[in-house]
Amino acid sequence: MKYPILALHIGGQWLTQTSGGERPVLNPADESTLGMLPLAGEPELRAAAESARRGFAQWRKLSALERFTVLRRATDLMRERAADIAHVLTLEQGKPLAEALREVTLSADIIEFQAEEAKRLYGRTVPPRVAGILSQTVMRQPVGPVAAFTAWNFPVNLPARKIGSALAAGCSVVVKPAEETPGSCMALVRCFLDAGVPPDALNMVCGEPAQVSSLLIAHPAIAKVSFTGSVAVGKLLGEMCARGVKRYTPELGGHAPVIVCEDADFDFSLKTSVVAKYRNAGQVCASPIRFYVHRKHYEAWSAGFAKAAGALRLGPGLDAQTQMGPLAHARRIDDMETLVGEAIDQGARLLCGGKRAARPGYFFEATVLTDVPPACRLANTEPFGPIATIEPFDELVNAIAKANDSPYGLGAYAFTRDLVTAHRLAEEIEAGMVGINHFGVSQPEMPFGGWKESGHGHEMGAEGLLGYTELKTVIVGVPR
Ligand code: NAD
Repeated sequence: MKYPILALHIGGQWLTQTSGGERPVLNPADESTLGMLPLAGEPELRAAAESARRGFAQWRKLSALERFTVLRRATDLMRERAADIAHVLTLEQGKPLAEALREVTLSADIIEFQAEEAKRLYGRTVPPRVAGILSQTVMRQPVGPVAAFTAWNFPVNLPARKIGSALAAGCSVVVKPAEETPGSCMALVRCFLDAGVPPDALNMVCGEPAQVSSLLIAHPAIAKVSFTGSVAVGKLLGEMCARGVKRYTPELGGHAPVIVCEDADFDFSLKTSVVAKYRNAGQVCASPIRFYVHRKHYEAWSAGFAKAAGALRLGPGLDAQTQMGPLAHARRIDDMETLVGEAIDQGARLLCGGKRAARPGYFFEATVLTDVPPACRLANTEPFGPIATIEPFDELVNAIAKANDSPYGLGAYAFTRDLVTAHRLAEEIEAGMVGINHFGVSQPEMPFGGWKESGHGHEMGAEGLLGYTELKTVIVGVPR
């Protein structure tokens, strides 16, 4: 199966020639060039924003039921085309094909849930307090054209969350996927357009990220910005949004703790932790990173974890035997090497992995470290790769304090068989999502979002729509 010819969707046209030049898209499994990506320059970016303005005027006129019908058709197309889309995803991003396929079908489920939920964007009728008022209503309306920026780690899921909710709420979109993984988003955009979304209501651009964001965020047509990516870039975009008082939803990084309690199921916690840690080679915002294991289990648990991690089969995502694919690009390898090197220099102990795999492609070994000093960068910075740290604890109160001692607050996990401990952990852990005996905190019907520097606002669940709406108070009086 071939990688598609790359194009941008602007003003209802697929453009292969643009004013911003082009850049190669690489296969991270072998570093070969898959295709050339046209980059939007200023004229195309302005055209995309203007197109979204026109698209909003058209799309918002449809009823929620009509929008649902179109979006439902788009999800049917995604499921029909899932194998092809997953193939493109794996080629450009690297994850094993089975993971890519699950990403595509789950993304369809997310869009469908949002489109369903938009039929229930209820308002409120409030009894008036003074005479002369016939009705007081609180209603929700679409916020307007949305600029959506997404990372490369889930090249279908992240754009799907934003486009699905925005369109369901009645907004139009200019989406900028990561330049490393544009083919997956192109395939997704095609599903929406083929299903009947007006061409102006959905634009896709790629370019020089800083130029794209500064131009789109400042453009008067853009009413709302949604961003998934690092904390550093999230803060930058937040400052730009503040200048124009633009609505902003940042979905940023995490540094998820995992507490393995004294009464945890040893085998279950170990097996599921290894799978969750190395899924997508650890390039998951809610990926488990810091494992705090009760001292009773610590030696055997960390040895078992390192053994299972060291046994994972690395390889290209298209190979059915592969359990962990490459990192998405060369910069990630440099980051992993630096974080591991610094930790070891400061006294950490390597239990397995720790270096680039000796083969072509951006492969980094599944890595486990212990005795990582608290001041070390790895202990406080999201590695966004296949690195786990493990340390023992004696008292649960100390494990919870360590789990919370972080500027991030996205995912957090714990293993216990005690109901009271489970409730205590759910109550006391500072994170937007807590999984007890389960790593699956990202579910279409549940709100997904972070606390602290991991962001604010939500995607998915009924709450995922709210950020794409504005409230309006309407008072209707009686002429007297
Ligand atoms: P990044 O912030 O560098 O890039 C993310 C996206 O923003 C990319 O499309 C990139 O091209 C773009 N970008 C970069 N600089 C920009 C700028 N100045 N203006 C506008 N756009 C810009 O992050 P990354 O390293 O590519 O992605 C990984 C990060 O994303 C991790 O921190 C991860 O935790 C986070 N993430 C968060 C979630 C979530 O839902 N909370 C989900 C997935 C990934």
